Amino acid sequence: MKQLLTAKELEEGVDQLAARLRREYLGRPLTVVGVLTGSIVLLADLIRRLDLPLRVGLIQARSYRGAATTPGELTVNADLLPDVKNREVLLLDDIFDTGHTLERLLTDIRALGPISIRSAVLLRKEGRSEVDFEPDYVVFEIPDAFVVGYGLDFHDAYRNLPYVAALDDEIANVDLDELPPPGDCDPRDC
Ligand code: 5GP
Ligand code: MG
Repeated sequence: MKQLLTAKELEEGVDQLAARLRREYLGRPLTVVGVLTGSIVLLADLIRRLDLPLRVGLIQARSYRGAATTPGELTVNADLLPDVKNREVLLLDDIFDTGHTLERLLTDIRALGPISIRSAVLLRKEGRSEVDFEPDYVVFEIPDAFVVGYGLDFHDAYRNLPYVAALDDEIANVDLDELPPPGDCDPRDC
């Protein structure tokens, strides 16, 4: 698979995001809400760099993109969300593609009465947005390709890659049971 972002580039990008957040929230209490499951690696790396009074919450968004369902149909599970009323919230996701996931989650969380809510994503795909807002923080702009690694999956595989790679067409088309096990070999050689 073709590496788009190396582990070192990801580390530097997360460093810069953390520095901006530390400056902009300046010691104010913050609740970081990670979108399951893709944001977990970014969430873990980011919060350890945030020297702020911090709470962490999680929210799950699943989109069903199969031919049988309407594209973009979303199911949200907010059972793991702490009380965000009168809190400053940063919603954190792995990737901004069409933007529908973040749009829906921002609306849902706004309804819970936070003082403020902003959004941050690791990746934003160029030319794909179908919504009329931008995330407040974007770490990397990437071309329109299906990417995996650093939390992002392909049918739940490859989240553990320490870099971000564009999925090879051969892998995208293989029988799912035949997927090379993540971490078992360098996916560029699998
Ligand atoms: P959106 O609602 O912005 O179209 O899509 C956001 C969600 O779709 C992300 O949270 C992610 O789960 C998934 N997604 C979109 N593009 C990609 C991609 O290139 N790779 C992976 N692994 N997931 C993606
Ligand atoms: Mg996701």
